[in-house]
Amino acid sequence: MKNINVLITYPMSSYLERQLDKRFNLLRLWTFPQKDEFFKEHSGSIRAVVGSLHVPNDREFIDSLPNLEIVASYGVGVDHVDLACCKERGIKVTNTPDVLTDDVADLAIGLMLTTLRRICESHRFVKGGLWKTGEFKLTTKFSGKKVGIIGLGRIGTAIAKRAEAFNCPISYYSQSKKPESNYKYFPSVIELASDCDILVVACPLTEETRHIINREVIDALGPKGYLINIGRGPHIDEPELVSALVEGRIAGAGLDVFENEPHVPEELFKLDNVVLLPHVGSGTVETRNAMADLVVGNLEAHFSKKPLLTPVV
Ligand code: NAP
Repeated sequence: MKNINVLITYPMSSYLERQLDKRFNLLRLWTFPQKDEFFKEHSGSIRAVVGSLHVPNDREFIDSLPNLEIVASYGVGVDHVDLACCKERGIKVTNTPDVLTDDVADLAIGLMLTTLRRICESHRFVKGGLWKTGEFKLTTKFSGKKVGIIGLGRIGTAIAKRAEAFNCPISYYSQSKKPESNYKYFPSVIELASDCDILVVACPLTEETRHIINREVIDALGPKGYLINIGRGPHIDEPELVSALVEGRIAGAGLDVFENEPHVPEELFKLDNVVLLPHVGSGTVETRNAMADLVVGNLEAHFSKKPLLTPVV
C-alpha cells in the first residue's frame, strides 16, 4: 500500500502519523505553505483523506480531489464532512465511535463536579494564598441532582450510567424514545430543561441540533440550572449563554466545546461559575491511539477491499 497517497489535513497525533507513514505515502497538508501549488501537483493522486474538524471536508475540498475514495475521520462526529457530497461521489466515510465513549463520559462527569463544586475556583483560592484569609465559600451538591441528557446515544448512555452511580435521576431527549431504557423520556428539549438541574448536550451536530440550546431552553433550565456541553460548540447559541451567565439567569456552565474554536467569548474568562476546557473530551493517550488504530484499520480494510470497520457512508 506504500504507493497509495493519503492526505492528512491537520497535525492530530504523532502516533497516527507514524502508523500511516508505515503503510501509505503520507502527505501532510500543513507542511505545504502554497496550497494552490500543492493541489495542482497532488490532487489527482490522493485516494484517501484523514480528516478532523480543524479542516472542514466541505464540497469545495472534496471536489478538488477527483480520485478520492475514502475520508477517514479522526473522531466520532462527522459534522465537518459534507456527507451528501461524499454519497453523491461514492466516497466512503468512516469515523471512530465507541473507543472514545468512556473518556468523553468521564469528562462530562468531571465537568459537572468541577462546575457545581467550584473545583477550579477553589484550586485558585489555595494557589493564590487566599485560604489564610478565611474559608472558601459553600458550593452546590452534585450527588442526587436531576440530570437531563440531549442525545441518549453511546456517549449519552455512558454519562447516564456514571451519573446513576451518584444517585442522579436521569431523563433524556433524543430523536426517538428508547424502549430498552428506564430513563424518563421527554419529547422536547424545553420539557427536559424545565425538569432537570443539569442539562447535558451529547447529540451530534446537524442542521436540527444547531443552536438546540437557545434562550428559551436556557430560561427553562432557570437560575438554579447548569449546562454541560461535550457535544459541539454550535449546539449552543453562545451569545445567549454568555448573557444568561452574566445576568445570573442560569447557575453555571461546563463547556468542552465552543462555537468558534479556538476562540472563546472573553466575557466567560471573568466568570467563576463556568469551567472552560479546550475540546479535550477524547484527549487521553490511550483513546487517541485507539482512534488512530481505527483510522488506519478503516483505510487498510478499504484498500484491501474488505468491509470497513466503522462506516458512516
Ligand atoms: P451516537 O451514539 O450516534 O449518539 C447520538 C445521540 O444523539 C443519539 O441518541 C441520537 O438519537 C441523538 N440525536 C441525533 N440527532 C438528534 C436530534 N436532532 N435531536 C436530539 N437528539 C438527537 O453518538 P456518540 O458517539 O454518542 O457521539 C455524540 C456526539 O458527541 C458526536 O457526534 C460528537 O459531536 C460529540 N463528541 C464530542 C467529543 C468531545 O471531545 N467533546 C468527543 C466525541 C464526541 P436517536 O438515537 O434517537 O437517533
